[in-house]
Amino acid sequence: MIEALNNKIFRIVSQQALLQGVRAYVIGGYVRDYFLQRPSNDVDIVVEGSGIALAEAVANALHCKLSVFKNFGTAMLKYKGTELEFVGARKESYDRTSRKPIVEDGSLEDDQLRRDFTINAMAFSLQDEDYGELVDPFGGIRDLNAGIIRTPLDPDTTYSDDPLRMIRAIRFATQLGFSIVPESLDSIKRNKYRLDILSRERIAEELHKILMSPTPSIGFVLFDKCDLLDAFLPALSNLKGVETMEGRGHKDNFLHSLQVLDNVAQASDNIWLRWAALLHDIGKPATKKWEATIGWTFHNHDFIGSKMIPGIFKELKMPLNEKMKFVQKMVLLHLRPIALVTDEVTDSAVRRLLFDAGDDIDDLMILCKADITSKNDRKVENFKHNYEIVQQKMVEVEEIDRLRNFQNPITGEIIMQRFNIPPCNTIGVIKEYIKNAILDGVIPNDYDAAYRLMEKKAAELGL
Ligand code: ATP
Ligand code: MG
Repeated sequence: MIEALNNKIFRIVSQQALLQGVRAYVIGGYVRDYFLQRPSNDVDIVVEGSGIALAEAVANALHCKLSVFKNFGTAMLKYKGTELEFVGARKESYDRTSRKPIVEDGSLEDDQLRRDFTINAMAFSLQDEDYGELVDPFGGIRDLNAGIIRTPLDPDTTYSDDPLRMIRAIRFATQLGFSIVPESLDSIKRNKYRLDILSRERIAEELHKILMSPTPSIGFVLFDKCDLLDAFLPALSNLKGVETMEGRGHKDNFLHSLQVLDNVAQASDNIWLRWAALLHDIGKPATKKWEATIGWTFHNHDFIGSKMIPGIFKELKMPLNEKMKFVQKMVLLHLRPIALVTDEVTDSAVRRLLFDAGDDIDDLMILCKADITSKNDRKVENFKHNYEIVQQKMVEVEEIDRLRNFQNPITGEIIMQRFNIPPCNTIGVIKEYIKNAILDGVIPNDYDAAYRLMEKKAAELGL
């Protein structure tokens, strides 16, 4: 007996279904996640009959609020942290131009057939006579145990009806570490043109889930394998490949970016840092040059890359807000920590890095460390050593000068009052002079020293 189904909430659904003379089942993600031992609070109930009517009876019995979505024929209630969504079993047919199906009432099996994958089409019976029995007509349990993503219908039908399922297939493969059956992979390639009818928002939602998986590279490798990348992340697709000149190749920046992404995923759950890892070298194709004396160069790819971020976010209809600015900042600064050690790590360079990165310095250091993917052990050791030096220096400098959230000790107010002047350019000039003196280590980051420097600069300016 399925332990979770002893929960009062399922017993009540069962009783109310019996009273209404309809059959009810737990279906989909909840059943899958039960077997995967991934606890879930989202429960979908499918009813051979009216989902809304059963939901109303259950809400009454549990004395809880119900939200009814008449247009969709669904109703949702929350009870002690569990969210139950009710829907009538349905049969679907699709029009070619949209993801919205034409819906008719159907049986449980019709409803299971319209689901995306066999592992998502399993149901638990809530009927008295076989309470808790698994209803699994398409081998969901077999595929779950084998770690396989397979469609219940011919994959061409499933994917062409609703192309979001192609992206979901890749998302589940990434989240669960499953493989997609070859017929399905071939079908995704064949049906890629169907992506046209998908909204960018839905694609971005799936991309977020892929990025938050333990090994996000799996998803992007699959996108590439199925030729889907060009459709929504062409800039990433552009990173693919290696060019050789005079026998010297550069690294494949697509594979490198995926390695950096996986490295960051090991170290941080910050989704925006993961985005930054994926996109940190996005400026490389535009800046690539072969220089006879040096070899392959990508001068300024950090700057050009950061400028490309808004376009990429906009294309995916992701918000152009402070999260995007964070990604831009990470892309812009990703070379700075390591660049610091090319000759000698000066305190002032470290102070400027702390100042520019501000509170995001720890994230930047995670990205920077993750960026070390060379196959040359000597190089890696060297990088790691330099990285440690910068880390250490940062701690020392921060201890003395506290630059992480730098606030100029001298404000505009102080300058205006001291010299009895109105707001004007001179104030900015003095503040900038003091800031640079602190960052360059000419004076310490404290009020008295800064005040004295203000007096000196003001005298020079004839105040
Ligand atoms: P998650 O909650 O992790 O996103 P899920 O499989 O639970 O995964 P939901 O969007 O919650 O996804 O959907 C619940 C169930 O509805 C799925 O398990 C599946 O049976 C069905 N489903 C969802 N989206 C689709 C789709 N595009 N095509 C067919 N069936 C779908
Ligand atoms: Mg779900």
